[in-house]
Amino acid sequence: MFDFAMTDEQIKLRDEAREFTKWVPREMILEMDEEKIQFPREYLKECGRRNLLGIRIPAEYGGRGLGWCEDVIVAEEIGVASYSLACLWGVGADIVCEAIVKYGTEELKQAIVVPLLKGETFAAECLTEPRGGSDFFGATTKARRDGEDWIITGQKRFIVGAEGADWFMVYAVTDPGAPPHRRMSCFMVPRTKGVETRYIYGLMGVRGGGAGRLILDEVRVPERYALNGINNGFEVFMTNMIPERLGTAAMTIGSVRPALEIATSYTSRRKAFGQPIMNFQAVGFKVADSAMMMDAMRSVAWSTALAIDSGKASAGKIRRMVSQAKKFITEGAWQVANNCMQVMGGIGYTNVFPIERIVRDIRLSMIWVGTNEIMQHIIQTEWYKEHEKNMKEQKTREVELDAKAAFETEEKVYE
Ligand SMILES: Cc1cc2nc3c(=O)[nH]c(=O)nc-3n(C[C@H](O)[C@H](O)[C@H](O)COP(=O)(O)OP(=O)(O)OC[C@H]3O[C@@H](n4cnc5c(N)ncnc54)[C@H](O)[C@@H]3O)c2cc1C
Repeated sequence: MFDFAMTDEQIKLRDEAREFTKWVPREMILEMDEEKIQFPREYLKECGRRNLLGIRIPAEYGGRGLGWCEDVIVAEEIGVASYSLACLWGVGADIVCEAIVKYGTEELKQAIVVPLLKGETFAAECLTEPRGGSDFFGATTKARRDGEDWIITGQKRFIVGAEGADWFMVYAVTDPGAPPHRRMSCFMVPRTKGVETRYIYGLMGVRGGGAGRLILDEVRVPERYALNGINNGFEVFMTNMIPERLGTAAMTIGSVRPALEIATSYTSRRKAFGQPIMNFQAVGFKVADSAMMMDAMRSVAWSTALAIDSGKASAGKIRRMVSQAKKFITEGAWQVANNCMQVMGGIGYTNVFPIERIVRDIRLSMIWVGTNEIMQHIIQTEWYKEHEKNMKEQKTREVELDAKAAFETEEKVYE
């Protein structure tokens, strides 16, 4: 993130995260990519030991109790070592813990949040199902009441960290006849009888992070494990959109950053036709565009974090800004990674440099936590609502009238 925008405390926090990222053993990254490691428990333990899990979670539960600006600062640094590690860092401590702190009982906070932030346990977020991820309300996992308990049956897929998870945050239909937003509940499900995970996906990237299928076969959970009560899962889902998407955006900036650093060093040393290739505009301009894009991406992440922390932006505006950040940054990062591979020539396509892994890893960012097409939907919806409100309030000059024939109203045909 930008040094000039940070306070001294934020710079100190950024440096702590940088030190931790330097700690990550090279073998861990390589063995995860080769899937010799399927779940890097040691990483979470060390991160917890350094108190770098749960940046926004209150200190009483083991977090830092800071804001979104600090979260995006740390997320960028966490992304640098590997995208797969960053996904795990975000899912448990940022996404699931936020939902529990906001909507869970004290019992769940003590049982899940406290050990998770120490890096001792992990909790996965489980929305996506085999028959559809974008269509959240189309979920078919069901729960039926049995006395004080609920019995859950269904399947979820592509669940980051499923392989190592001790808890699963599961959305299930509890009232099939109700309108979509009152149909679902969000349960915290321990790894118990009837819970099975399968590590079956041959992923293009983000390997070794335990992404798997979750099978729930008549799993019994007490009603008090439902976050926000029964049939109120929608609010939890809406809350989680923010850490899912702004967190993803910020860590994607960090994950692509090394690609630009490597490409910049390489193109200033590599010679062709008797001179460093950075002197060819076709090369140097790609690097320049990438540097520009990195700062643009940071600006978007930072202003979105500021908007949330300010407490002054409406829920709709935050939803739009977070979706914009996710879409803009993940697509920007993809362009940067692609530029970096291109200016490296053939060697960029090999595993002599990690750019090929970065390309494979960050491709996920445009798909998960809501595809970028879904982001467009949200941006569109919120923008039109905002526009209508602005027009009603007429807060700014009505520029439409600053045209010579502006009052030729019969020419303004809309139907
Ligand atoms: C490695 C990996 C890790 C993941 N981790 C998790 C996790 O931890 N937890 C979790 O719950 N999920 C996770 N996911 C799932 C991910 O969030 C979904 O894959 C994603 O939301 C898309 O859902 P889908 O795969 O079912 O695609 P679909 O919903 O079938 O979409 C297919 C295509 O149709 C488009 N589309 C669908 N509906 C619309 C629409 N209304 N308008 C325009 N376009 C549309 C989509 O944008 C997409 O391009 C992960 C996925 C992967 C690959």
